Parts: sequence; C-alpha cells; structure tokens
Amino acid sequence: MKRIVVRSYGSPDQLTLEDSQPPSPGPGQVLVHLSAAGVNPVDTYRRAGTQGYTPDLPFTPGFEGAGVVAAVGADGQPVSAGQGTPAAKGNPAPALVVGQRVYVGWSVSGTYGQWCIADRSQVFALPPSLSFFQGAGLFVPYFTAYRGMVFRGGVQKGAKVLIHGASGGVGSAALFWASYLGLLAWGTAGSSEGVQRVLNQGALGCWNHRYPGYWVIMAREVGRFDLILEMNAHTNLQGDLGLLSPAGRVMVVGSRGDIAITPRRLMGIEGDIRGVVLAKNTGEENHLTAVELERALEQGGHIPEPRVFPLSQASEVHRLVESGEASSGKMVLDCR
Ligand code: NAP
Repeated sequence: MKRIVVRSYGSPDQLTLEDSQPPSPGPGQVLVHLSAAGVNPVDTYRRAGTQGYTPDLPFTPGFEGAGVVAAVGADGQPVSAGQGTPAAKGNPAPALVVGQRVYVGWSVSGTYGQWCIADRSQVFALPPSLSFFQGAGLFVPYFTAYRGMVFRGGVQKGAKVLIHGASGGVGSAALFWASYLGLLAWGTAGSSEGVQRVLNQGALGCWNHRYPGYWVIMAREVGRFDLILEMNAHTNLQGDLGLLSPAGRVMVVGSRGDIAITPRRLMGIEGDIRGVVLAKNTGEENHLTAVELERALEQGGHIPEPRVFPLSQASEVHRLVESGEASSGKMVLDCR
C-alpha cells in the first residue's frame, strides 16, 4: 500500500510516496482503508516545521480522511495518540463494523495514504449522501467552524456574522453552519470566482478582501457584526474591531504573524477577541458536532464537492495551499 512520508522538514518536495504495510490497530483503535485524505494549511506548517509545529520524523501528514473500516482493535481505553493529537475525553465510543463507511479526525498515523490508524472515538459514520471525497474534508473545517461559531462563539439564531475568508475550507464550512443555525452571514473572498462561490453557498453578500476599499464598503452596507470568524487575523484584526457590534466577538481561527491593535476599540462596546483551536474539542464536543452535521444534512445542508488530486501530487497541492493565490475551496487527495 502507498503513503506519503516526510523524512525531514522543508519544501513540498519532502513529500515522497513510499510503500508501507498497515499495522494492526491497538486497543481502542481502528484501521481504516482510506479512499481520500483532506489537505489543510496545518499540514504545510508541519511539513515545513514552522508555526510552532515540529512533529517527530519521519511522519505521514494529514489529520482527516474517509474510507472503510478495515479492522477494529480490542476494546479498552482509547489509546492516546502521538503527533500532538488530543486525548478524547468523555466521547461515547461509536459502534463500528468492518466495511463501514467512515470519516476520520486526528488520525494518529497520518492520512495521506491508503490506510490510517485512528482512535475509535475519532472515527465517525459517513452520512450516506456524502462521497468519500466530501467526507475526507469534513473533520478539520466543519468541526473547527462549529467550534468557533457555537462552542466558543456562542452565536444565536439571527446573529449577524462575517466570515472573513469564506472561500476556503473553514469558511465554506462556516457558511454551511450559518444556514443550518439560522444566522445572517456575509463573507469575503479573494477573487470574483470565490465571491460567486460564497454567494452560491447562501451568503447575503460577499466582498473581495484583495480590494483595498472593501472595509469601507462592508461598514457602509452592513454596519456591524455580532460575530466575526477570522481566517487572517494578522492582517485583519485591527479592522475587525471597528466592525463589531456591542458585546460582539472576533473569533481568531487563522493567523500567521503579528499585528498591532487599538485595545480601546473593545472598551466602549465591551467586545471580545477569542481564540479557537480544534484540538481543544472534547470527545463529547466532537460527537455532538458529528450529530449536528448529520441533522444539517438531513435538513438539506449541502457540502460542496472538493477539488481532487492524485495522492502522488501531494507536493503540488501543498504548493497551491502555500501560494497565497485565491483559493478554490477544499482540496483532497485521491488515495485509491
Ligand atoms: P484555506 O482553505 O487555504 O483558505 C484560506 C482562506 O483565507 C481563503 O478563504 C482565503 O481567501 C482567505 N484569505 C486569504 N487572504 C485573506 C485576507 N486578507 N482576509 C481574509 N481572508 C483571507 O484554509 P482554511 O482551511 O480555510 O483555514 C483558514 C485558516 O484557519 C488557516 O490559517 C488555517 O491554518 C487556520 N485553521 C485553524 C484551525 C484552528 O483550529 N484554529 C483549524 C483549521 C484551520 P482567498 O483564497 O479567496 O483569497
């Protein structure tokens, strides 16, 4: 079987395709034969050894994927994972059977390949309406967006929400949740094609964040937002503070550097800046999110088809993620 391996930190060329045989799953673990793996910006930080990520070498990148259960380890305490994976707390372990279609989060072995090992509590039944490609990109974006909006953001029905960076993986997931939760959502994107995609996903409006005057236009057209889900805090945080409603919250999901802010902007409105990190989800929160996702799909929620690339092109996909060019939504690797 094939999988991608990183043997030293560096450029996308460090992603090499190797042969490897899957191990047997340990107690509380599951072996999944993967059809697809989701690609996320964090995979590029870990490959490069940047942004505070220095996983033990060698390793296989990728936290999320979708496929079928190939083997289930003996019952027991879920094995706490390596590679910075958080231990699952209080999660009702799902009943899994060999051959079942599943999606995976926080794989302990990495998902860029034809197999992965995951803690049982981090393997979820793949809703029947979803393809493996859609399923491969569920965990990181959809669970992060839900954490930012609900668990940390405390958003209420009817709230005005700005998804600052709505054209990427997390932003697209946030639009999915906004529709399900009955929020009034606006977004930004970096290209006219991205703007159109965001509007097609139900945003009430979308502005191009590469156009310098867009801040003024957002303020003129909408005024203030109760919640801002921020993908690029190192460029936007100061501006966001000027767009917050009284008691509004900026949720920092993504940030790749420093920025100066004017704290006084928070005083009069008693606004908050809150960090969001998916790794803080408890097992129970993951379980709740998976249940809500199924419910949202049953009510007509739509998960866009991702862009699919062969596993052998993992390096090219990392280059695309790092290019900073306008994103074209979620990208996944075909592992079959
Ligand atoms: P992605 O698919 O690569 O998308 C990046 C998004 O950022 C795109 O919508 C992009 O828009 C947008 N963007 C680029 N420049 C922007 C700007 N100046 N203002 C606002 N948005 C801008 O990445 P992702 O998976 O959505 O992740 C987004 C960020 O969240 C990344 O930094 C990632 O590392 C982070 N993240 C954090 C967590 C967590 O637990 N905290 C979890 C997942 C992801 P265009 O491409 O259209 O310009």
